[in-house]
Amino acid sequence: MDERLVHALHVQALRHAELRPENDAHVVFQTSTIGALLDGAYDGDVAMREVLEHGDLGLGTLDALDGELIVVDGVAHAARVDGTLRAVAPGERTPFAVVIPFAADVRVPLRGPLTLQRLLAVVDAHLPGGRRIVHALRVDGRFERVHARSVPRQERPYRPLVDVVAQQRVFELRDLDATMVGFRFPSDADALNVTGHHLHVADAARAHGGHVFDCVLAEGELAIDHSSAVHAELPPGVRIATTAAQAAAVASAERER
Ligand SMILES: [Zn+2]
Repeated sequence: MDERLVHALHVQALRHAELRPENDAHVVFQTSTIGALLDGAYDGDVAMREVLEHGDLGLGTLDALDGELIVVDGVAHAARVDGTLRAVAPGERTPFAVVIPFAADVRVPLRGPLTLQRLLAVVDAHLPGGRRIVHALRVDGRFERVHARSVPRQERPYRPLVDVVAQQRVFELRDLDATMVGFRFPSDADALNVTGHHLHVADAARAHGGHVFDCVLAEGELAIDHSSAVHAELPPGVRIATTAAQAAAVASAERER
């Protein structure tokens, strides 16, 4: 990530001890980075109760990569490898989660059938804040089908995420009312998060869900929250590769631990 992007996203790096409950509208909160997760950093650092102090909508995973995390309406669910959901206990930790106190800036009625590609084109047509900031997304609707996946809990020694994804289970949910939640990160934010669109789904009964690959939406509503800043909690040893000045600040913060 270059300095201009860090500036554009208003990224603030925090250590766990610095976390305070804060629920500021339009501020994205994330734990760790996708770069650390890709490298196999699956040990949870932040408890779900702390994550939920920073937002009521979002996604991520759980300690030991134990399923896909779906946060909707302030409740945390985890998709087991077969696509069934379980409740996440407040004390469960997460190695990677992204949430926002969701407040829609834009609402767009959707008329299907819309594939995921067409749905995301509608999203991109409603980003007046530009493509260099982070947008949170929520889609409530009736779906003919949703193609999704989850991943199995990992045992140590952890393997890189690319190897785990080879073990993913893909499933199809049919004829359901559901909510999709997620984010759109700028294409050059790859050190921080999944770039482009990233959506997780939970059905209306909060019984099934996962990481979304594709869908056919019959009808529904899209809501977008244009974020103003990203607060990133970085576990020990994790940093956002940015400028020399920021790297020095991170190094100095680590010395103080
Ligand atoms: Zn995902």
